[in-house]
Amino acid sequence: MKILVTGGTGYIGSHVAVELINQGHTIEIVDNLSNSQIEVLDKIEQITSTRPVFHEVDLLDQLALDHIFDNTSFDLVIHFAGLKAVAESIEQPLRYYDNNVTSTINLLESMQSHSVKNIIFSSSATVYGDQGVDQCVETMPTGIKLTNPYGKTKYMIEEILKDLAISNPEFSIISLRYFNPIGNHTSGLLGENPNGIPNNLMPYIMKVATGELPELNIFGNDYDTEDGTCLRDYIHVVDLAKGHLAAIDGLKPGFTAYNLGTGRPTSVLEMVHAFEKVSGKPLPHKFAPRRPGDLPKLYANPKKAEQELKWHANLTIEDAIKDTLTFISNK
Ligand code: NAD
Ligand code: UDP
Repeated sequence: MKILVTGGTGYIGSHVAVELINQGHTIEIVDNLSNSQIEVLDKIEQITSTRPVFHEVDLLDQLALDHIFDNTSFDLVIHFAGLKAVAESIEQPLRYYDNNVTSTINLLESMQSHSVKNIIFSSSATVYGDQGVDQCVETMPTGIKLTNPYGKTKYMIEEILKDLAISNPEFSIISLRYFNPIGNHTSGLLGENPNGIPNNLMPYIMKVATGELPELNIFGNDYDTEDGTCLRDYIHVVDLAKGHLAAIDGLKPGFTAYNLGTGRPTSVLEMVHAFEKVSGKPLPHKFAPRRPGDLPKLYANPKKAEQELKWHANLTIEDAIKDTLTFISNK
């Protein structure tokens, strides 16, 4: 297949790019490099011996986007491009709505005018919001008590995609609701390397492990969980990437959503102890107050993807930690 990957130099997009090339697909990447580096293309080439065609284009630029579609006839778009920092989205809501929602509308306009009718979208478990349940299943409603603009952009984009599928039955749309992606390609060449102080757990742990930050603050140890810390569903990014290959095979007319998670909850403290065990070194940490807006428990019911896409996560958090250590040592 000829596939356009938006956001393909980013953390998840680059891992999916590798899997797509390895499966024999021809890909082109479009990214404005607002949160990734051009060198990622070298790494993709090192791993796959193939350098994808790259367009440094902002999806907000409709003309430039149309130009990409004028030149190549794509079978499918996989849409990763977007801003993803929850705290930043609360500070800069207009930027988030514009960058995530407007750019997706642009992309869909270009697809529609060039008769490209297949799209896989990077959604998030955050679309479920706060429903007072621990395990999310696709039959649950979405958009309930969403607390930040980032999550709302994912919900809004899903609603747009549903309406598009109703208006034009030729569209095949899959929304993949990711849980917590961690780890990196086993070569250690690709990975997540945020600038500054990270918000997410694994990037923060990485900076503590390298000595760039002194210690991990564990946000809350008085939740109603076994060890008092929050539970999340951490999925190895290579398993997540393989979920996209399965989704390609599962494309069918209409809008369909799938959870991509392991179904196994892990607490923050369990993650810290696993990191210490795999690295063989203590990870300095202390308990800190709860982070506002955190849900105590959030993990996937992954049965729909297992049954319909024949996909399930194989790798463990220990695999992800091992690959993370390789990535750190390559930096
Ligand atoms: P990332 O920031 O590493 O990758 C996103 C890429 O999109 C970056 O390379 C960035 O430069 C590019 N981009 C952003 N806005 C753009 C625009 N207007 N035009 C062109 N390129 C643009 O993020 P990621 O972790 O790889 O996430 C990929 C997708 O998955 C995002 O949509 C994100 O919201 C979603 N997601 C991520 C997580 C996670 O924990 N990483 C969880 C759930 C969902
Ligand atoms: N967390 C933490 N310290 C940090 C970052 C995160 O204790 O420096 C906790 C956070 O409170 C949550 C879990 O780790 O319980 C996962 O947080 P992350 O931001 O990675 O994912 P999300 O909460 O968006 O699922």
